[in-house]
Amino acid sequence: MIKTKQIQRPQLVMIVDDHEINRDAIGAILEDDYELLFAENGKEALDLMQKHATELSIVLLDLMMPVMSGFEVLAFIQKDELLRTIPVIVLTAEKQAELKALQMGAADFITKPFDMPEVILARVGRIIELSEGRALISAAERDPLTGLYNRNFFFEYANRLYHYHPEYKMDAVVINIERFHTINALNGRSFGDDVLRCIGVEIRLFLAETEGISSRVEADRFEIYCIPQPDYAAVLARLQEAVSRISSKVNIHLRMGVKPWQENIDPVILFDGAQAACNMVRGDYKNPLMIYNEDMHLQELLNQRLLNGLLPAVKEKQLRVFYQPKYDILHDPPRLSSAEALIRWDHPELGMISPGQFVPLFEGNGLIGIVDSFVWEEAARQVASWRDRLGFTLPVSVNLSRSDVFDPTLIDRLVHLIESNNLSYSNIKLEVTESAYTDNAGQVLGVIRQLRELGFEIEMDDFGSGYSSLNMLSDMPFDVLKMDMKFIRSIETNEVDRRLVTLILDIARYLGVRVVAEGVETEGQLNILRDDGCDLVQGYYFSRPLPPEEFEKLILREIEIS
Ligand code: C2E
Ligand code: MG
Ligand code: MG
Repeated sequence: MIKTKQIQRPQLVMIVDDHEINRDAIGAILEDDYELLFAENGKEALDLMQKHATELSIVLLDLMMPVMSGFEVLAFIQKDELLRTIPVIVLTAEKQAELKALQMGAADFITKPFDMPEVILARVGRIIELSEGRALISAAERDPLTGLYNRNFFFEYANRLYHYHPEYKMDAVVINIERFHTINALNGRSFGDDVLRCIGVEIRLFLAETEGISSRVEADRFEIYCIPQPDYAAVLARLQEAVSRISSKVNIHLRMGVKPWQENIDPVILFDGAQAACNMVRGDYKNPLMIYNEDMHLQELLNQRLLNGLLPAVKEKQLRVFYQPKYDILHDPPRLSSAEALIRWDHPELGMISPGQFVPLFEGNGLIGIVDSFVWEEAARQVASWRDRLGFTLPVSVNLSRSDVFDPTLIDRLVHLIESNNLSYSNIKLEVTESAYTDNAGQVLGVIRQLRELGFEIEMDDFGSGYSSLNMLSDMPFDVLKMDMKFIRSIETNEVDRRLVTLILDIARYLGVRVVAEGVETEGQLNILRDDGCDLVQGYYFSRPLPPEEFEKLILREIEIS
């Protein structure tokens, strides 16, 4: 008969002592019965305890150590709700120290020198057995990966605090990882687990310094119920810093939503608010923290309305595509070169809504694909129609969202788009935002290379708003660089911006790509750009985005000139 003990993995014991000779001595006594982990000082011991918190059966801790003494370790452990459940036996030669250690939460002590192996084995075995009941309870209420409470127990305890300890006025904090499924898919599950574990450790360290409880309620969603913090940005920053240390190659971004305590709002509702706040900053790497407020509540209602309204909007033709011209300014007079297709939503109650209000919202939940397909179809149909009716083929750029780039059917859909409208690949250009390039560089670059091989021209949109470094730039496949509007806005007045623009133009020349300046509004800006050798200009100076019937007039004028 197989005994339960044989199926179980050997119990994990950590031995902490600054002297190798002591570690070896104890190790030799325990190695046949236990799996062993060693640490040379208190600091290392705490790191390992954090990492293996849910696996450790017991810790044997020397009291006198440089760097961080056993007492300091005990004091720390007492503050951590999870570490506190791991029994500690202290190793000491001083009677005085034994008492103090027991008062500080140690379960037992072993006296040096270690000359009675049977006694030591028996003590370790007994303490593990005694704590097993506790360990079982603790395991049932915790997420095995992070050691934080699981969802049920978390809300059980949060509700108890709420009902029986009204003196605790707790805030709800939600933390999510940006595109965690992609991180998992690209780097493997065990890397994903490392990220989750790291967040768990850092949250516990944070809670050891303040008051609160925490949970990994599901996948990459962490919740903290804690006394109000003076600076949530700092809390997020320390978590972000911890995950950033995991890998220099993978960019991991956290976002945080907070709903402050409110009279008569129970934890479940409070956390709904915090989650909503967290969702508001999805994808916004520059402002990853949102504290719930009244405006947000209104925004939430509006978002809900837009989300529910999208499918009817497509059906009832409320979505419209506007076109904004790009002019080739190296020609005199400037020549109409192409256009960008920009989505507009003509909402029956809300009026004309600009994409800034709904594109990020739909990017967050996959619905943007519906908008984009609509725009691509519409733009392709329009290019063909102008060609057939006016005899003028004007290439049109369409915007690709991040999620489009990761869609495995993207290439087939675009090929079909071109073929079914009887276009050539040079008639439709693709704008990909800079931040999509830097996100998951490998996969994105592969897809973009394939698109270019087919004959699509790729424009890197919003260049300068993301974080691509110069050495990455030379590996990135694109044909046109679209300089972010923020550089243009002040080139007439701000010397630094002006020099940046010159620098970007130099880099583009070096890379052999053309440059579009976006957001050009004045003649002064235009002249500076022309003098610096910028190829193309898009902006209100030439025209705002126009509905197709009005844009047609620009084409007719162009036909007249040439
Ligand atoms: P973008 O692709 O960088 O588009 C340029 C934006 O700059 C447009 O805003 C355009 O109206 C605006 N703009 C052009 N010239 C000027 C100017 O001289 N001054 C100022 N202040 N603004 C100017 P719009 O149409 O509101 O679009 C905003 C963003 O929404 C776009 O930025 C793009 O990222 C996104 N977007 C628009 N249409 C689509 C779409 O069909 N699909 C996707 N995924 N995103 C889209
Ligand atoms: Mg664009
Ligand atoms: Mg742009």
